[in-house]
Amino acid sequence: MADKRDYYEVLGVPKTATEAELKKAYRVLAKKYHPDTNPGDKEAEAKFKEASEAYAVLSDPEKRAKYDQFGHAAFDSSAGGGGFDFNMDDIFSNFGDIFGDFFGGGSRSARGRGNAPMQGANIRTSVRVTFEEAAFGCEKELELTLKDECNTCHGTGAKPGTSPVQCAKCGGKGQVVYTQQSLFGMVRNVTTCPECNGKGTIVKDKCSDCHGTGYIASRKKIQVTVPAGIDNGQSIRIRGKGEPGTNGGPRGDLLVEVIVSASPVFAREDYNVFSEVPVSFADAALGNEIRIKTIDGEVLYEVKPGTQSGTRVRLKGKGIPTLRDSKLRGDHYVTLTVKVPEKMTQEQKEALRNYDALMRGENPPESGEGTTGKKKKGLFK
Ligand SMILES: [Zn+2]
Ligand SMILES: [Zn+2]
Repeated sequence: MADKRDYYEVLGVPKTATEAELKKAYRVLAKKYHPDTNPGDKEAEAKFKEASEAYAVLSDPEKRAKYDQFGHAAFDSSAGGGGFDFNMDDIFSNFGDIFGDFFGGGSRSARGRGNAPMQGANIRTSVRVTFEEAAFGCEKELELTLKDECNTCHGTGAKPGTSPVQCAKCGGKGQVVYTQQSLFGMVRNVTTCPECNGKGTIVKDKCSDCHGTGYIASRKKIQVTVPAGIDNGQSIRIRGKGEPGTNGGPRGDLLVEVIVSASPVFAREDYNVFSEVPVSFADAALGNEIRIKTIDGEVLYEVKPGTQSGTRVRLKGKGIPTLRDSKLRGDHYVTLTVKVPEKMTQEQKEALRNYDALMRGENPPESGEGTTGKKKKGLFK
């Protein structure tokens, strides 16, 4: 995964490609490298995955914007177990509809699996965390409805004492094959059996506990470990907490998207934190020790005499811990903004006028160097 090809290059489209152009380009590649067209061909499978990943990112406006800005780094969070982890099941569950119309029917069945053990679908959900929780990681409890195999019928859906019978239409294979004449010759289509929905069996007497579905749904509490450094929009994969598999296949995964609430104080870009701190005119002019809020709490900072408004200072290592290694951290950039008082007492106003007069006295406009004095006169009427 070290040197990934550019997504636009993978799909062979310009950076300005429209959604329709992307879909068209992807369809062509997906058809060419689809596992059904190239059974057992690892290279084709890799190309199929590559194209699918590129399409997954570029067809999502938010992801595409991120990619355009940061490139592959936008999704580089492998160390946290989250981020952009793409597998074949994701491809089929996400883009099944795109293959559907050229491989005749269902997405997964198009892979010719029939009634072989099949992994359950992935479930997507989200969790909201604060800015600080995302920075340092946290534990969250999610409650969601999960399906489990029915204990009464052990997932068969048949009433105890009875068994499902073989489907007559597909002879238990779970799929039907038909050939079709096309412009390019005979095309062999494999599709899910409409009679048994790919199961290969039909339940005559339904289990009363699960109404023949073979599954019981219940509310479950799931602990999620949100890793330190995770950013808004990244996902955590919890293996085996998705939909149950069929025909003895493993469960799918639970994909938890992390939504980070905006902070009133801090902004974030990658692993760096940004904030703005007001500084009084006197502190900026004379220098002073001020307190700056960081994600670790307040720190003392020595403002240098003569600091101008808008000066940006770096607090090294005070940024967000990285997903890879929480001891490695980004930096915190602070913009010092010199504040002009909005309201002043009579006494304060007088003091400021005196100060101003003193400043003028020390630097009379006439005795200035060259044209500066004249310019000032022109500016302040
Ligand atoms: Zn049952
Ligand atoms: Zn059937």
